Amino acid sequence: MENCFDGKKLAEEIRSSLRERIYALQSRYGRVPCLSVLLVGDDYGSQRYVTACEKNAAFVGLTCRVIRMPEDSTDQQVLAQVSALNEDNQVDAILVQMPLPKHISQAKIVAALSPAKDVDGVTDTNVAQLWKQKRNDYSRFSVPCTPRSAMRILEASGINPDGMNAVVVGRSNIVGLPVAKLLMNANATVTVAHSHTRDLPAVLRRADLIVAAIGQPKFITADMISDGAVVIDVGINSDPATGKLCGDVDFEHVAPKCRFITPVPGGVGPLTICSLMENAIDCFLRLHA
Ligand code: NDP
Repeated sequence: MENCFDGKKLAEEIRSSLRERIYALQSRYGRVPCLSVLLVGDDYGSQRYVTACEKNAAFVGLTCRVIRMPEDSTDQQVLAQVSALNEDNQVDAILVQMPLPKHISQAKIVAALSPAKDVDGVTDTNVAQLWKQKRNDYSRFSVPCTPRSAMRILEASGINPDGMNAVVVGRSNIVGLPVAKLLMNANATVTVAHSHTRDLPAVLRRADLIVAAIGQPKFITADMISDGAVVIDVGINSDPATGKLCGDVDFEHVAPKCRFITPVPGGVGPLTICSLMENAIDCFLRLHA
């Protein structure tokens, strides 16, 4: 399908360019950037994601140190590990893999993270920076990886959000809200929809750019989309009918109406780890350049 974005292809291109960039950083600074990933517990999705991070990092030549802590770790033990990573001058970027086990205070852990090393832009300092800035300049501070990927997809596909009527469905701090702000910085007119939005189909039909970050399988159906819309599907769900991976958008019926659409799997997903590695390089440069 011509209008269907190929995330794997773009991810391959980005990985090749990152490889060259990291090689150049090694020559210039005498070492490569180091990302440290803190994985607490045995959440299956997190383990798979972290393994994929390690593989991608090995391919591009980025150092990726994974620290695995048991499920029954305490707040104090995790905080001590975060503090050690903050202090370690061989570590440039830190990812605390979410979700943390339920008994651990995510807010306390995030508050302890050094904003300079916060690779996924989750600390209050980085969130505030994003809401203060008026243009998208990723070199100054970290923005969350998935929103950065969504913007990268638009850019690589020649879609300029300037003047577009965008609707972001979802208002989480890690996806919906940062995507909305990045789109606003790119001069889109943005509506943020959520579970209290009255008549979501009517809101969506007025959009020429839709970002779905809901977490509900095939929630956005063809009757909610205007002809020629651009649709970025961030959702990762299991299809209750087949058990297979699917997005928030009913791809089969929505795709024929769209000018451009990202599939699930193979759309936004492959780009997220690329953005993570780009963010890690940006942390390194902010600390050392
Ligand atoms: P959250 O559960 O934090 O947020 C979901 C959002 O969807 C909320 O703002 C909620 O509204 C809104 N929502 C829920 N039901 C409805 C509804 N019926 N109508 C309108 N809005 C609704 O999820 P995340 O933001 O963390 O993740 C969203 C999706 O993106 C998930 O599928 C997740 O797996 C995926 N994801 C994908 C990533 C990737 O790299 N591709 C990375 C991170 C997440 P309200 O605020 O009112 O509750």
